[in-house]
Amino acid sequence: MLVTLVGAGPGDKGLLTLKGAQRILEADVILHDRFVGPEIMAMLPESAEIIDVGKYVGNHPVPQEEINKMLVEKAKEGKNVVRLKGGDPFVFGRGGEELELLVENNIPFEVVPGVTSAISGPAYAGIPVTHRDYASSFHIITGHARNNEPTNIDFEALVRTGGTLVFLMGVSSLKSICEGCISAGMDKDMPAAVVENATYNNQRKFVGTVSTLPSIAEENSVVSPSLIIVGKVCELSMDYDWISGRPLHGKSIIVARASPGTSRLSDNLRELGAQVFEMPSPKIVPLTEVGSDIRMAIEEIDSFSWLVFTSAVGVNTFFDCISEMGLDIRELHHLNTACVGAETARELKKRGINSDYNPDEYNGVALAQGLSELVNDGDKLLITRAKDGAEDLTKLLTDAKIQFEDVAIYDKELKLKEVVIPETQYAAFTSSSAVQWFSASIKEVDLSKIKAICIGKSTAEKAMSYGMETIISEKASIDSLVTTIKELLI
Ligand code: SAH
Repeated sequence: MLVTLVGAGPGDKGLLTLKGAQRILEADVILHDRFVGPEIMAMLPESAEIIDVGKYVGNHPVPQEEINKMLVEKAKEGKNVVRLKGGDPFVFGRGGEELELLVENNIPFEVVPGVTSAISGPAYAGIPVTHRDYASSFHIITGHARNNEPTNIDFEALVRTGGTLVFLMGVSSLKSICEGCISAGMDKDMPAAVVENATYNNQRKFVGTVSTLPSIAEENSVVSPSLIIVGKVCELSMDYDWISGRPLHGKSIIVARASPGTSRLSDNLRELGAQVFEMPSPKIVPLTEVGSDIRMAIEEIDSFSWLVFTSAVGVNTFFDCISEMGLDIRELHHLNTACVGAETARELKKRGINSDYNPDEYNGVALAQGLSELVNDGDKLLITRAKDGAEDLTKLLTDAKIQFEDVAIYDKELKLKEVVIPETQYAAFTSSSAVQWFSASIKEVDLSKIKAICIGKSTAEKAMSYGMETIISEKASIDSLVTTIKELLI
């Protein structure tokens, strides 16, 4: 039983701390608010109870007292509770209030600080909050005015410090904040900036002075969440802008997933500045229990001469099964190996075995054609792949009179049904099963409006069968897919 206040950082998944991520993965219950980034939301484990306390019936947030009580109740049930909050839990996060009741009830707790938007927002806008030549202190202030009353800020004291002023929750009081600074004696030409959706790939930044910023923000319809930064350091924001020059800055794309783990494609696209909406991957269910088909096939491994894998998950499940059966991989010494996909071959190599054959195209047809030229009379293939694998592979092998056993070594289950996807035209697919999972998990989407960027012909055919418009990358590799995406989106 433990309650952990975890700071999720300002939005960019990369700014969640390692400790925060660890606590999220271990949680039984997660209570989150609305400032937690979607990529972090996608990381929440399916086994945990997820409670959105930022939204409630009619869009009202759950009252603070109720959140405090929920933390106590869930902890008393013996659960590991994570209270996930945007930025840092103690920076205008009411983290202190949430701890009070835990202390009263003797419930163990810990705090995992987060990267606050007050510092990371300026950093992503090219604004260093301190600088030897410009500001020797910085101050974080709430611009939130209760019930439309004027903000209760001591502007004279702030202006006297000469430091950088960072206002949170201030969009609706931007005008009164700027006027407050000027009436307290600040130079009316003092540089000032507003950063909307900081650290997200749809971040916007506007720079002006304390006199001009309110109208600039209004003209551009700046909305919450935004930060207001006042101080000479804002002058540096053009020279130090490292965000807007990224090739895919301001572009968004869906990345469909067919297997768990990190997505190299998503990481590459994020690095190029794209806003990536990663679909949840299906849950893998190994079919390797005692008496399973794969165990029976492995017991007769001497009768096979080829071992065929069509996915990285298949490789891992197979070797886990070998180990669970108490066998030694030397039992496989007589086998040739074939893999569909570079990722699959890479996973096999990690297990100490080089793949003897990889077709250039990542599909069953190419595999069957290649193998039919390689196998000798009397050879028998052991194909280990997902349940309900495509039939073209087995059909072609049968036609070519090649002996084989097609064994389902794992199954997939949808983790989340009916994911809501953003209004994005482009979706990238690295396999036909990614197309299948994507189509199975989205809610009320007109698929004909989606432009599917596909890694190969069979992936594209699958996307087409769902009515999507398709574009195929030149080569069947992630790098080539990224190049195609860049050409299309820029
Ligand atoms: N604990 C949070 C702040 C919570 S108050 C932190 O440490 O960052 C909520 C305010 O934070 C918002 O009104 C906005 O001013 C600011 N904020 C949070 N995330 C932001 C983001 N990604 N971009 C800009 N401002 C953000």
